[in-house]
Amino acid sequence: MDLKYVSTTCPYCGTGCGFNLVVRNGRVVDVAHWQRAPVNGGKLCPKGRYAHEFVNSPDRLTKPLIRKDGKFEEATWDEAYDLIAGKFRSYKPEEMACLSSARVSNEENYLMQKFARAVLKTPHIDHCARLCHASTVAGLAIVFGSGAMTNSIKDIGDANCIFIIGSNTFEQHPLIGRSIVRAKEKGAKVIYADPRYTATGKQADLYMPFVSGTDVAIFNGLMQEIIRNGWEDTEFIEKRTKDFEKLKEVVMKDDYSLENVSKVSGIPAESLKTAAEWIAKAEVATLIYSMGITQHTVGVDNVKSTANLMMLTGNMGKRGGGVNPLRGQNNVQGACDMGCLPNVYTGYQKVTEEAAQQKFASAWCCGIAEGRVGYTVTEMINVLADEPGKLKAMYIMGENPMLSDPDLTHVEHAIENLEFLVVQDIFMSETAEMADVVLPASCYAEKDGTQTNTERRVQRFRKAQEPPGEAKEDWKIICELAARMDMGDQFAFANPEEVFTEIAAVTPSYHGMSYARLDPDGLHWPCPTEDHPGTPILHTEKFATPDGLGIFSPIEWKPPAEIPDEEYPLVLTTGRILWHWHTGTMTRRSWDLEKEAPIGWIEINPGDAQDLGIKDGEVVKASTRRGSIEIPAKVTAEIKKGVTFIPFHYKEHPANALTNNALDPVAKIPEYKACAIKVEKI
Ligand code: SF4
Repeated sequence: MDLKYVSTTCPYCGTGCGFNLVVRNGRVVDVAHWQRAPVNGGKLCPKGRYAHEFVNSPDRLTKPLIRKDGKFEEATWDEAYDLIAGKFRSYKPEEMACLSSARVSNEENYLMQKFARAVLKTPHIDHCARLCHASTVAGLAIVFGSGAMTNSIKDIGDANCIFIIGSNTFEQHPLIGRSIVRAKEKGAKVIYADPRYTATGKQADLYMPFVSGTDVAIFNGLMQEIIRNGWEDTEFIEKRTKDFEKLKEVVMKDDYSLENVSKVSGIPAESLKTAAEWIAKAEVATLIYSMGITQHTVGVDNVKSTANLMMLTGNMGKRGGGVNPLRGQNNVQGACDMGCLPNVYTGYQKVTEEAAQQKFASAWCCGIAEGRVGYTVTEMINVLADEPGKLKAMYIMGENPMLSDPDLTHVEHAIENLEFLVVQDIFMSETAEMADVVLPASCYAEKDGTQTNTERRVQRFRKAQEPPGEAKEDWKIICELAARMDMGDQFAFANPEEVFTEIAAVTPSYHGMSYARLDPDGLHWPCPTEDHPGTPILHTEKFATPDGLGIFSPIEWKPPAEIPDEEYPLVLTTGRILWHWHTGTMTRRSWDLEKEAPIGWIEINPGDAQDLGIKDGEVVKASTRRGSIEIPAKVTAEIKKGVTFIPFHYKEHPANALTNNALDPVAKIPEYKACAIKVEKI
């Protein structure tokens, strides 16, 4: 029997845990602990522990499929490539769009944006960061000059106070939860603000339940209390920041007194006072957030507020401090770094800057898409739905908008308006069902490459088995398709390492990296030279802004786009659970995970349930202005009165049939975390 262990990186959340894949006779059969894994030291959450179970699922796509007379027929790769190349050639560049994926490697993301810009010559390239942390990328870049987690996961263990808002860290990033436990063991205080009393709330010393969508008011209230008591870090403010007086003008308004913030948010004034004191007086405090902050029409404002608070208290640029957005997917940081965004090339080099355009045209030896900002994912869907004929063809790799995007009726209408859709994936997703061509791709266990975790650590994926049937590695598919479109010279890579060498050459923050240097612990970007050790803590001496100063951003609180009224009297918020991952294509095919949570539910407070005559477990009708679903009710005091919650993993109970696609004006992220809903007995 041939048995081997292959060290690699988890395909689920942005923590980036390492484990060994157990390979018997060429097939992945189990996951085993990898004691020296750099981020998690051998520990895993259930998703990582069972990450082998979907790999050899009988549902894997194994051959290209072409739709003929409304039905899929198996095809050869040549037939599929010829059809796609012919169709793509028939459209103008601005009529085509590409979606890349936060689940594939950096190398594959790099190739996808190169394919969009150099082969199709379209500026329309984006990926699912638009739906989770686009507000982080935009908001932190405005304040700090760089839109990423400022400190490392290990660092969190050195904080004396940890403020977690809008992140159920112990369920969504469980191994980051271990750093919080380490800090608690050393005496750190943990403050948790969220509409739900989650597993993370149970670890907190102070829990502050609040009404979804009131984050800016909460931050302004905390900052007013700090300034009123003279607890701000005046030395840091004077030396490292600007526009403090402008911030003060807004946060000192009566609207943001603790009493008024308490009325808006539902958090008792006494709790807000305690939180302000703990954060300000801690030797070093850190702030952790996730999509509870970002997925709002004021997502960028929320993010800037987190930065205001941590600059005010002088907690930037030091061990145990910082603003720490926890990225969702395993490689969403990398997909952003690789330029799978409509406004930047790799390393956030702006497409609108002529020097950057010339650099990439010269590096790729070809004419490239014109230097203008293309459509975001959410704009692509709106353009397709509202301006038929403007976008005609899409190439989607490893994304499933038919379950993940807001207002699914709108999304379906949009995708139906496409003339030609190519989907490259490992399973027949809800989106692939609507495609003209489906290309069978590879999962994380079937290819070499790199990924960048939430703390900006670039580390390796390693190939453990061949893809099933005729499925291929994503990087190979993109290169072969480019060659079919007469761009083979620009995509002549023999392996992912050669792609990485090109990435390092064109990306200043990755310049000093190579596969050899990434073994075994990876490197945190920026890593500008071959002898640079990487940068686990950002902004230690100056911020990445042009003058090196952090910029305070005064922000007024605005309510969500849709607030409860007589017809829709409750608030709906959505999110993930411990056992499942996003649209469930992988975790719902993992039997040890699926058996723990096989159906969806709507959480409702006992007070609201009593008013509506609803019992625990009863199937109810949940409706918003976008649609209705029938779903079992979970009556629980762990959700705030007036708020409901639905996990978005279940196609049988699709939360996104209800969510609102109102967008943040800067980041174009939708408001998944607050819309008006009614719940009725059936
Ligand atoms: Fe995987 Fe995240 Fe769990 Fe680690 S914490 S094992 S990266 S899902």
